[in-house]
Amino acid sequence: MASFDYDTEVRFSSAAPGYWSGRDVSPAQWADYRWQLKNRVQSLDRIEEHLRLSEEERSGILLTGTKLASAVTPHYFNLIEADNPGCPVRRQIIPRVEETFTDPHEMTDPCGEDSHMPVPGLVHRYPDRVLFLVTDRCASYCRYCTRSRVVSGVGEQHLETQWEAAFEYLENTPEVRDVLLSGGDPLLLSDARLERILSRLRRIEHIQFLRIGSRLPVFLPQRITPELCKILSRYHPLFLSIHCNHPRELTTEVREGLERLADAGIPLGNQSVLLRGVNDSVEVQRALVHKLLLCRVKPYYLYQCDLIKGSAHLRTPIQTGLEIIEGLRGHTTGYAIPQFVIDAPGGGGKIPLNPDYVVRSDDRNTLLRNYEGKEFLYPEGQELGSLLM
Ligand code: SF4
Repeated sequence: MASFDYDTEVRFSSAAPGYWSGRDVSPAQWADYRWQLKNRVQSLDRIEEHLRLSEEERSGILLTGTKLASAVTPHYFNLIEADNPGCPVRRQIIPRVEETFTDPHEMTDPCGEDSHMPVPGLVHRYPDRVLFLVTDRCASYCRYCTRSRVVSGVGEQHLETQWEAAFEYLENTPEVRDVLLSGGDPLLLSDARLERILSRLRRIEHIQFLRIGSRLPVFLPQRITPELCKILSRYHPLFLSIHCNHPRELTTEVREGLERLADAGIPLGNQSVLLRGVNDSVEVQRALVHKLLLCRVKPYYLYQCDLIKGSAHLRTPIQTGLEIIEGLRGHTTGYAIPQFVIDAPGGGGKIPLNPDYVVRSDDRNTLLRNYEGKEFLYPEGQELGSLLM
């Protein structure tokens, strides 16, 4: 990986107007999320106007269109380095030919969602909570998307959420106390549509807790309008999980959008995916988690990259994630440390993974090591010190 300068990367800078300088775009247009969506960069020609592409990228753009659409908002596109195919933003969003290769272990539906749908569009995998897929569209498309089978409208399946049946299932299933809206990106829905969904869910008495998973605060911070924050604030307790993988994604505009959400009383967490050449080092993760805290976002999960087809070039060994957690725990603020998890292939749910801090234990004593490698005995029985002999 290219050298990484912590001091530079933790600074906030604006993404505007970048490649759009001198193109007759007013600041008002730039700040309008509708303009951003209308002007997404999608075709090879548009991408090549700004970036010098490698052969792997050119072929990827031409070949992956029937697997997962390619689209990038102008805001996010401005974060891509024009001449560096190793740019950590670029690796997440510009298709590469490797996406067309399938590793023997890879799957179309790695988290086994389709087999846990009591109603199309509603995943009920854990006893007390559900995942509600409310759209198949995103502002930009991540090349490692675990739901690429249904996201973007060009993949193997189409999302056909049965709205009325889903609401009825929730009304008739009292053990569900937590609903996570996801997709695609729920914040791409219009304010009115989002409000209709949230208010219908809030009318169900046993649903205590609402969550939204969204990458829009990062791809399209212009969407975090005061009106949207006002709507969301009417449905507390409502938590929002953003998805940010690299400190460079946290621009001034992103920080301002996140502050608007936090000021509306919405607790914010971050779910990041561990990706090779993007954020697979302690130093990148340290800058990321520190910058997230500055934006009032708690680093929540660090995911091992799912076994989605065509993602092997972005996946790291599990050991890399463990080493990152070991490099953070004790070395920085506890709030800054995400839980490293694997979403078990086939639908077993999230499994937490941690470095092993227990050196050995018996029924009387446990020998532990701290973040500096020093050992400490924690006694629980009457005879002390047996492990040290
Ligand atoms: S924002 Fe989420 S759902 Fe959309 S492409 Fe990225 S990972 Fe997939």
